[in-house]
Amino acid sequence: MNCRHCGRSVSLPLVDLGTAPPSNAYLSAERLQGPEAWFPLKVLVCEGCWLAQTEDVADASLYFDAEYAYFSGYSRTWLDHSRRYVEAMVDRFGLSRRSHVVEVAANDGALLQFVHERGISCLGIEPTASTAAAARARGLQVVEEFFGVGLADRLVAAGRAADLTAANNVLAHVPNINDFTAGFATLLAPDGVATFEFPHLLRLLEETQFDTIYHEHFSYLSLTSVSRIFTTNGLAVFDVEELPTHGGSLRVFAQRADTGVRPVHVSVPRMLAREKAVGLTSRAAYEGFQRRAERIKHEFLEFLLAARRDGKTVVAYGAAAKGNTLLNFAGVRPELIACVADRNPAKQGKRLPGSRIPIVDERELESLRPDYVVILPWNIRAEVEAQLADLRRQGTRFVTAIPRLKVA
Ligand SMILES: [Zn+2]
Repeated sequence: MNCRHCGRSVSLPLVDLGTAPPSNAYLSAERLQGPEAWFPLKVLVCEGCWLAQTEDVADASLYFDAEYAYFSGYSRTWLDHSRRYVEAMVDRFGLSRRSHVVEVAANDGALLQFVHERGISCLGIEPTASTAAAARARGLQVVEEFFGVGLADRLVAAGRAADLTAANNVLAHVPNINDFTAGFATLLAPDGVATFEFPHLLRLLEETQFDTIYHEHFSYLSLTSVSRIFTTNGLAVFDVEELPTHGGSLRVFAQRADTGVRPVHVSVPRMLAREKAVGLTSRAAYEGFQRRAERIKHEFLEFLLAARRDGKTVVAYGAAAKGNTLLNFAGVRPELIACVADRNPAKQGKRLPGSRIPIVDERELESLRPDYVVILPWNIRAEVEAQLADLRRQGTRFVTAIPRLKVA
């Protein structure tokens, strides 16, 4: 396949996770009677621009429009993160009631609500109908479309150029990363700022976070690859911060390459140098990942098999994409993990794609009195443990598989 950014032929393998169904294709009762489509799940690295990318799969568009069930507003950690982001941006860039803020992939408006409540004009862009409706219910204005140069042109023509754009956890999910990025260069006011948050490839590699790989996640990004993509598409990076979200993310600040005047912060060359030092711009950093992912899978399976042999009850928490990658890579089925609890009512009563583990309301865990709860979104382990503190008092232990098996 050719690189999604630079077009060069991509062949350096990072990991081959076998095959998996689309990670958001939750199964309703009727769909359990039918077949599921499984696709190869493999990540390759471009040796031209160092963009790590999921290999294209045939006919993906036929299957990847599954009903979207992720609502960011369900996570307390994410809400707090969003509120702090808005506070920090308002302070740093002096946003006022005369400013205009646009969020791309606004989801249910969990972040934009904090802009709106300050009386700052804002607009959400969100192509998914169910989440866009939830954002409108908060009183937010939403354009229900995919973002790119075309939409940015129309917004600017309508006088909606942005002083600040936010794009959190979306850059890695867009198939056409060039058009998407160029859209921000178009949409920004001359001295506007675009911020992007995405999981950091460096952390994925260091902590063997292979479960963050799924088909809807097209790119695995570093500052090295993002800087190149931005430069090609009219944006210039001027600052970068490390965040604890999603197992370790970067927040990148960019301005228009043609009109931006902010000086480049020392954090930018520093992070580029660090990425180079760990081998991100050579083959070194990518070798050995497959073997480490397999070791995690084997440890996890050994734990589940031992628990079953000892007659223990094992359930899971968090019916999200991450969990599906791990469960399907490991071949786990309901005889090893009886059910998975999730707060999102849209998922309850359905089954996970592939593993077909039933999704239940969190309250059902109390009556099950499980010996172990496997926390699939390991990045919010502390939050989930606090939420399930009653179970801990009854003797339940909590398990995460990544970066190494932890039972506590
Ligand atoms: Zn490339």
